[in-house]
Amino acid sequence: MSGDDGCARLVFRGELVDLLRQGHVDGNIRYPLGRRASIKDVVESVGVPHTEIYGVLADNESVGFDHLLLPGKVVELLSADIAADNAAVPDAAWPVDVTRATLLRPEPLSELRFVVDENVARLAMLLRAMGFDAAYDRDWDDPYIARMAFEEGRFVLTADRALLKRSCIAWGRLVRSRDPDGQLAEVTTFLGIRRAPAMFRRCLRCNVETVSVEKAEILHLLEPKTILYHNVFRRCPQCGRVYWPGTHQQEFARRLAALDIRAE
Ligand SMILES: [Zn+2]
Repeated sequence: MSGDDGCARLVFRGELVDLLRQGHVDGNIRYPLGRRASIKDVVESVGVPHTEIYGVLADNESVGFDHLLLPGKVVELLSADIAADNAAVPDAAWPVDVTRATLLRPEPLSELRFVVDENVARLAMLLRAMGFDAAYDRDWDDPYIARMAFEEGRFVLTADRALLKRSCIAWGRLVRSRDPDGQLAEVTTFLGIRRAPAMFRRCLRCNVETVSVEKAEILHLLEPKTILYHNVFRRCPQCGRVYWPGTHQQEFARRLAALDIRAE
């Protein structure tokens, strides 16, 4: 008789606790081990996508997602901010730095680029307005988004846990907020984004960088009032849409300022 009931104990910390199904409000789960089970399989079976975890401690040692659970053992699962505060996870950073390799994510991203799921589509427009490459198309399904994230090195934003459980997604965030400004605050805080890299330099519709265009070239596309009051224009090389610094851009800069994000 081992005294461990054939169970391992999982202890979830930080914002991971909120992701557990009801009945585990303290973050503690006794997990019956009927078969060989890796950390990734087990945490996802209790509702937590592996993308949300930034530290795994077994006997106070940092281990990977492929670590096998054993009866009688305690494994701690840490959110990003909690992991960064724990000396046993020396490679964890807060805010999260996607360009740094860690034990849990040995393949860093070359730069911060996104792929955005339909359920948080407004985020794609807000990130594009800030100048980020934020791929989005409402017709993309989960397998397509996952493959794109893997092949192009993109950070996945979604409200869908099932998408983030896909093994080929290393970097992503289960977006918790419901309203777009709350979602943007959540993502910028998590990734430490304090300034917009290139405000209004990307087409909101196509996600490609816009280019300067002479007013004379596009006069036929403009309303009389726009011709009267504006002289600086950019155009999308893909769809031809014309952009100029109007009141909507000032309004967006104010929204960013409220989130403590500089426009330029
Ligand atoms: Zn366009």
